[in-house]
Amino acid sequence: MAGVNRDVAMVAIVVLGQGALDTARRIQSIYPGSQVHGLASRVRADVAYDELGTHLRDLYARGTPIVALCSAGIVIRAIATCLADKRAEPPVLAVAEDGSAVVPLVGGLGGVNRMAREIAAALGIAPAITTSGELRFGMCLLNPPAGYALADLEHGKRFVSDLLAGEATRIEGAAPWLDNAGLPRAADARLAIRVSPRAGRSGDDLLIHPRCVVAWVGDASHGDITERVRLALREHDLAPLALAALVAPMRDAASKALADAAHALDVPLRFSDALHVKGGEHRESNGIVLAVADQPIDPSTIGRARGRLTVIGLGPGSAELMVPAAKAALAQADDILGYETYVRMAGPFRPGQRVHGTDNREEMQRARHAFELASEGRNVVVVSSGDPGVFAMAAAVLEALDEARDRQPAWKIVELAIVPGVSAALATAARAGAPLGHDFCMLSLSDNLKPWTIIETRLRHAAQADLVMAFYNPVSRARPWQLDRALDIVREYRLGSTKVVLGRDIGRPGESLITTTLEQLRSDQVDMRTMVIVGSSTTRGFPRDAHSEWVYTPRWYE
Ligand code: SAH
Repeated sequence: MAGVNRDVAMVAIVVLGQGALDTARRIQSIYPGSQVHGLASRVRADVAYDELGTHLRDLYARGTPIVALCSAGIVIRAIATCLADKRAEPPVLAVAEDGSAVVPLVGGLGGVNRMAREIAAALGIAPAITTSGELRFGMCLLNPPAGYALADLEHGKRFVSDLLAGEATRIEGAAPWLDNAGLPRAADARLAIRVSPRAGRSGDDLLIHPRCVVAWVGDASHGDITERVRLALREHDLAPLALAALVAPMRDAASKALADAAHALDVPLRFSDALHVKGGEHRESNGIVLAVADQPIDPSTIGRARGRLTVIGLGPGSAELMVPAAKAALAQADDILGYETYVRMAGPFRPGQRVHGTDNREEMQRARHAFELASEGRNVVVVSSGDPGVFAMAAAVLEALDEARDRQPAWKIVELAIVPGVSAALATAARAGAPLGHDFCMLSLSDNLKPWTIIETRLRHAAQADLVMAFYNPVSRARPWQLDRALDIVREYRLGSTKVVLGRDIGRPGESLITTTLEQLRSDQVDMRTMVIVGSSTTRGFPRDAHSEWVYTPRWYE
């Protein structure tokens, strides 16, 4: 995943029960920022999960390195369906509960064997390494460190086979990470490991490109930028994989053409009003200036990124009900802002991710803070529960931008996106059946931000229109009487036998679902974590089993 540095990704240590906790904590001590994930029903750990398979797949999809303290078979079966995409592969290891064995399973290019060695050392055991190259050389030659790119994986595999078959190698160029590798080296070897930004075939050699070239695009307005950069690289005999970043002036920060080019070239896009590359030579062609340094360039040291602000919905609570785009946004975020409770639901986080939890009522302040961080070039995510556009942060963020449009030009350059989520009404409806199967409305019963008289008028109109109604924010300690008043109004228009669905903590631990009727409903069955769905005249139910019923509203009308 672009932008996620796997070297710093937070390790998830997953346990099924109390018996594994000691070993888990010993492993945790060698990975700063790692968290122990425990099966909610059996053990208390740093992060709770409900079902092992789903949880492992979820972590895997986020690119989180996984150390699972259970049998290798269980882990393999759990992640089997995710294994097709080899590029997205985080390291996954199985460790025996009692700490007597560590088995690297997948994630060779993500450093799984290195982790196996580290864990083995901490537990005082031998790792079960099965990769021949790794066994012989003590490291994976095909997984150069950050700042370097292997030119060709298939070709690399052949090179490793040649070494395993007894050939020696020499090293051309600077490969400091190989200093301590147990490679068979010989100055006159036929094979070479070549570290160079130059393109081109290398015979049987292993070619590794240092990412030491930066392309400056002074004018983004003409031509196909990707092609111009590729051409410039080719003209100077530089490999596309040696490219560390595209750089452009701040004024072009919102250019889509630049963003597309950076995406196509698979490099970060940075903005700066001058190109400074220490000790580099500069070459120009096609209006593209290439700066070539003699060492890998860390793109984060050049100018800054275009800031990003993504407003996401976490869904009602469980990870399965969070949309993948929201998970991806969280994985890439530098800063995560939101109400404490929701921010906690959005974890686990990597070291380096900054979490800003605030009080629920400070929405405008949080929105402005988000823009301030994003306009510094940071990648910011604002979290809401459910859908961010339903009584939540998306409208506050847009209101902040609208208000500051003329005063804060830097906010306009921020790449703003809203990612939808499963709203509480939809999640509750799905649990109950399909009460929203026909026309419905969503109302917040909170009179914090609107006068109560408006709420009463809307309730009357909705009731008269025979709409199914979904009530958000039905009660709170500060608003004790409002729900009863609302129900009195609805009862003026609807029969006592009207179906009512109460969903509490849907998708969260301790979730409950009650189906009742308008006459039986008591306001003490409802709290601020409850969604109230009041049926229309056509909403009906039938038994599902001995204890519950399906509730639905037919799609047609008489
Ligand atoms: N943006 C959120 C709603 C925020 S308003 C969404 O789209 O769901 C907060 C209200 O939503 C709560 O008072 C409650 O009525 C409802 N709610 C939020 N999460 C819920 C859940 N998991 N189960 C039941 N109701 C929930």
